[in-house]
Amino acid sequence: MPKLTRSAELFEKAKKFIPGGVNSPVRAFKSVGGNPIFMAKGQGAYMTDVDGNTYLDYVGSWGPFILGSMHPRITAALERTLTTIGTSFGTPIEMEIEMAELLVEVVPSIEMVRMVNSGTEATMSAVRLARGCTGRDKIIKFEGCYHGHGDSFLIKAGSGALTLGAPDSPGVTKGTAEDTLNAKYNDIASVELLVAENKGNIAAIIIEPVAGNTGVIPAKKEFLQALRDLCDREGIVLIFDEVMCGFRVALGGAQELYGITPDLTTMGKIIGGGLPVGAFGGKRSLMENVAPLGGVYQAGTLSGNPLALTAGIETLKILKDENPYPELERKAAFLEAGFRDNMQKLGLNFVQNRVGSMACLFFTETPVESYDSAITCDTEMFGRYFTSMLNQGIYLAPSQFEAMFTSAVHTDADLDKTVKANYIALQAATK
Ligand SMILES: *Cc1c(COP(=O)(O)O)cnc(C)c1O
Repeated sequence: MPKLTRSAELFEKAKKFIPGGVNSPVRAFKSVGGNPIFMAKGQGAYMTDVDGNTYLDYVGSWGPFILGSMHPRITAALERTLTTIGTSFGTPIEMEIEMAELLVEVVPSIEMVRMVNSGTEATMSAVRLARGCTGRDKIIKFEGCYHGHGDSFLIKAGSGALTLGAPDSPGVTKGTAEDTLNAKYNDIASVELLVAENKGNIAAIIIEPVAGNTGVIPAKKEFLQALRDLCDREGIVLIFDEVMCGFRVALGGAQELYGITPDLTTMGKIIGGGLPVGAFGGKRSLMENVAPLGGVYQAGTLSGNPLALTAGIETLKILKDENPYPELERKAAFLEAGFRDNMQKLGLNFVQNRVGSMACLFFTETPVESYDSAITCDTEMFGRYFTSMLNQGIYLAPSQFEAMFTSAVHTDADLDKTVKANYIALQAATK
């Protein structure tokens, strides 16, 4: 058991001035018990907390750290920008073109792109653009998919009433909720029904092509293809939200992996290399409608910020130069196999889903293909598993419904240690 005195003190203090003591609710330990841990330093695949405990990190700042924390090339590039360029201009800078060119080169759907400051901004802007281009109001999303905290996305279907959007959060107006329809992941019939009932009124279908916010749920290729065909038939804008899976499951994201090209793509996390960045891009014919070229307004005081761009560009260049994807696959497959062996030894049969270095161990025996099956998990069991892993120095996301990210800097010794810890934590969780 690590000593967490200083963390506990800081948490008490933080709660006085910050709602819940955290600047994003996923950082709280509400669903696993205990207090969040205050970190003091990150290095590679490790983080050290304010009490001096060190953890092997499988959260990676919630996705960005595919190359680990403080990668020497990224740190050096940031120092260069800071000392020779500056922190912000609010004018165009050359680096913005470099980033745009890189994105056009590596992401199949992107012909033009606009930089923003977070994934939330990217998805909000992409949906506004789709509405502006089609002159339609409604959008379809999928139960369990997260697209940031924009009003339009905080809507889940009420039980049994797929067509009646009800807000998930106070403060989202009824009018907004009514324009968001929820379909079931990997279930094309549920989408076709909504489209038929709202003929000519659907502006966009937005989906995480590898769902990573309900644990990890891969889309079936036929399902994505059917969405593509449906959108083509009905004049609907297909948006892949690749904020998490972009540059993660392949350099060109899920669209490269599945070979299915959306009309618009939203990005974040990895393209910021640990700094706040998002982007949306896609077909030229759509992107030409963004202000100031077109009438769909979208703006940002710090968009295209030199520091954020530096970290993002350097990350993408390293990913291009080093192609870590086969190694990421090998490492994550090693963990999956190790966990499976452990479960076999313990007579357990929990589900593991994985796409490349995005993985999830679900505490259920029901195959997880959608939100409905994900929520069959025993979250209390996960809480015990999480706590045992943490006590053994392995830092997982404090929720059953998050991804476990392996990075390029996790070593084979790190992976061995994780598999051993998993055996003990599975025992602790299930006894
Ligand atoms: C994280 C995430 C977002 C939101 O990005 P922020 O930078 O947190 O605003 C949107 N979509 C997906 C798929 C995400 O994983």
